[in-house]
Amino acid sequence: MPFNADESTLRLLISADTRLPAESITNVRAVKRSLDARDKNDIRFIYSATFDIDDKDYNKHSARFAKTVVKAPEKPVIAEVTGDIPQPAPVIVVGAGPAGLFAAHTLASRGYAVTLIERGRPIEERRRSVDSFWTGGGLDPESNIMFGEGGAGTFSDGKLTTRIKDARAELVAETLVKYGAPERITVDAKPHVGTDVLRRVVHNIRKAIEDMGGVVRFNTKLTGLVTEDGRVTAAVVNGDEKLSCCAVVLALGQAARDTYRMLFDMGVEITAKPFAVGVRIEHPQSVIDRAQFGRYAGHPRLGAAEYRLTGKTGSRGVYTFCMCPGGFVVASSSNEGEVVTNGMSYAARDAENANSGIIVQINPSDLGGAPFCGVEFQEKIERAAFRLGGGDYTAPAERVVDFLNGDAPQGFTSVTPTYRPGTKPCDLRKCLPGTVYRGVADGIRAFSRQLRGFDMPEAVLTAVESRTSAPVRINRDENGEATRLRGLYPVGEGAGYAGGIVSAAVDGMRAAERIIAQYKA
Ligand SMILES: Cc1cc2nc3c(=O)[nH]c(=O)nc-3n(C[C@H](O)[C@H](O)[C@H](O)COP(=O)(O)OP(=O)(O)OC[C@H]3O[C@@H](n4cnc5c(N)ncnc54)[C@H](O)[C@@H]3O)c2cc1C
Repeated sequence: MPFNADESTLRLLISADTRLPAESITNVRAVKRSLDARDKNDIRFIYSATFDIDDKDYNKHSARFAKTVVKAPEKPVIAEVTGDIPQPAPVIVVGAGPAGLFAAHTLASRGYAVTLIERGRPIEERRRSVDSFWTGGGLDPESNIMFGEGGAGTFSDGKLTTRIKDARAELVAETLVKYGAPERITVDAKPHVGTDVLRRVVHNIRKAIEDMGGVVRFNTKLTGLVTEDGRVTAAVVNGDEKLSCCAVVLALGQAARDTYRMLFDMGVEITAKPFAVGVRIEHPQSVIDRAQFGRYAGHPRLGAAEYRLTGKTGSRGVYTFCMCPGGFVVASSSNEGEVVTNGMSYAARDAENANSGIIVQINPSDLGGAPFCGVEFQEKIERAAFRLGGGDYTAPAERVVDFLNGDAPQGFTSVTPTYRPGTKPCDLRKCLPGTVYRGVADGIRAFSRQLRGFDMPEAVLTAVESRTSAPVRINRDENGEATRLRGLYPVGEGAGYAGGIVSAAVDGMRAAERIIAQYKA
């Protein structure tokens, strides 16, 4: 359908395609919608839609449209298997990010006793800590972009794209809609909700868990585990309080370096895994719109344009990450003395700049392969960026032209960096290892061949983009339990099994189902 046509014309298009009389087509409903802008003179929305026709019309016309129309697939059913053993103690879910929230929600909605513990603070208090940090008020190591109600993605673009093929992904979208996300996320091929809406949704999910009998505790950090005969029997929180449990769902996220180290010291198997680091680039959104939509740039039906680009630097991958149209680069530190970037946008995606990470793949073998080699590498470059920026969470940044030419960094010109508390023109080679610096430069050159203007001289690079995924994996067996400790279910991004909001939520649900399959509520 031409992008500027009204959705109500779907019925006429279906009629033309199937040669069914328009009046026998009813209940037209779009089920998927994606944008095809490959031909900038003929930008189209591609729809899959369902509709009803009565049996009489179906029998009369079926031979004609057999190739265009398929029967709507049945909704996938997730088996609800319940165990026989009465649940002896609550399930402790550690972390209120998407993995932990969806694990706790699944358990509570099936009547199981569950306590969700979160080291950070509830959303309103967290928002104040984050605002204070962004305006120069100092970092709260327990309440920031990575820690607190909703987890890491709460201050994000809220992109809900996922490459995993799991029926639960649909359920995640439906649950988000139930708690306040817009209906369109179940239809759009590249759905997003924006940080403003997402904050409300995660808060509503937490309230629902409490309404269903679950207990939610903030400012409550997992600091140890009690084990008996190779099985976890209690969680230790805030150093001295023991919470008895029948299982622990460990949904830590990737920033909980202290907790990773505590678990490793007590014998939980943790290994290094590949990850990626780099910088965040900002262009005017209008440049991206023009490159993607040509003369239709800025049309309200098209919104702010996106991109996703990949390339090679030697034998390594370099790619854009977490592109935020009409958004902001955000300070995402969770440890003192470290500078970290990421991106977010509001539902309207109407800010001046587009941003994305440009990241280069790092393998454990590059760093010696020890379990924490990736964590140590991240810490090193985050501290280098902190020092380079001047030691007050100002981020080092550089114009693309200076970065590519190796020139002394000049002030920013037509692109104003959005990172708060602020940016300082710096030579980014001073905080990026050679492989990463060369990889980012190769990436910019390669991406400019795919997207006109990507290498615009005034575009700004801000360092460092280091928290793209967990550099470790908490190993688990085929039953989802930690390899060396029964009853411990590592899930989500921090455990190395998810890479985004939806996949983390799905992984959390799966762990909950495994526990439900053992116990009776
Ligand atoms: C700024 C930003 C933008 C992003 N944008 C997107 C996006 O648009 N789309 C997308 O799909 N993904 C995005 N991501 C990634 C996404 O947020 C993560 O993949 C996702 O949140 C991982 O979910 P999780 O539940 O596994 O972990 P997290 O969301 O990290 O949650 C883990 C939680 O555990 C808590 N915790 C840690 N240690 C302890 C402990 N010892 N005791 C108690 N609690 C603990 C933390 O405080 C945290 O709240 C973004 C991330 C950031 C930082």
